[in-house]
Amino acid sequence: MTRSSGEGEGEAPAARSASADALADRLARVREGIAAACERAGRPVDEVSLIVVTKFHPPSLVRALASLGEHRFGESRHPESRDKAAALADIDGLEWHFVGQVQTNKARQIARYADCLHAVDRPELVDALARLERPAPLDVFVQVNLTLDTGRGGVAEAHLEPLVERVLATPVLRLRGLMAVAPLGSGGGADDAERAFARVREHGERIRCLAPAATGLSMGMSGDYASAISQGATHLRIGAAITGKRPDRP
Ligand SMILES: *Cc1c(COP(=O)(O)O)cnc(C)c1O
Repeated sequence: MTRSSGEGEGEAPAARSASADALADRLARVREGIAAACERAGRPVDEVSLIVVTKFHPPSLVRALASLGEHRFGESRHPESRDKAAALADIDGLEWHFVGQVQTNKARQIARYADCLHAVDRPELVDALARLERPAPLDVFVQVNLTLDTGRGGVAEAHLEPLVERVLATPVLRLRGLMAVAPLGSGGGADDAERAFARVREHGERIRCLAPAATGLSMGMSGDYASAISQGATHLRIGAAITGKRPDRP
């Protein structure tokens, strides 16, 4: 059968390249935004690592981002994250950052493919990770809860130091610093986010008395990364501003 120059035929590649262009544009805009925020803060841009949060997106999107030069990716749900890391094992040099809550009974499985856990927030989780056997320590951030809502994840600010000490006493873990999510819906937008991130920065300065090497601050998402950079963020976790809207949870 002779193929007509049907619209269906021409559309798929055109649509694909349009979405690839859109992805490249969004990534370029975020890179510019990061550079501009670093400039305003008087910080060198190489102090700030971009982690592209790809949760709920297919491996093909990670592949496209890797071809655009990104290599740090953030995921928040096991086993989706495990399957994605396995599907992309042919790409050298990818780093997988697990940014979501870690259930104690999944900790060991997640630690098999994750290069870094960002949400260590309770002693039971540290104890579960302590039993890992690995050739090199696992990088972790301790998540601080900046709200009074214990359901939000993160250790209460009052319990931060004992948790940090517990991580430091666990040889298989290497503490990189603190992680936080700015509280939602407090109404003040960028100012509120900036105040929240300032608190994380102060906690970071305090815990450095215990852990001089824990200089990292994992904070800043699509809507507030410029505020986070102004307060010393070293690891940005940016999803939608780069990937576009997330598909519904798989
Ligand atoms: C999803 C997620 C992000 C990315 O959020 P965006 O608003 O899409 O940038 C960052 N951090 C954590 C912990 C997340 O779960």
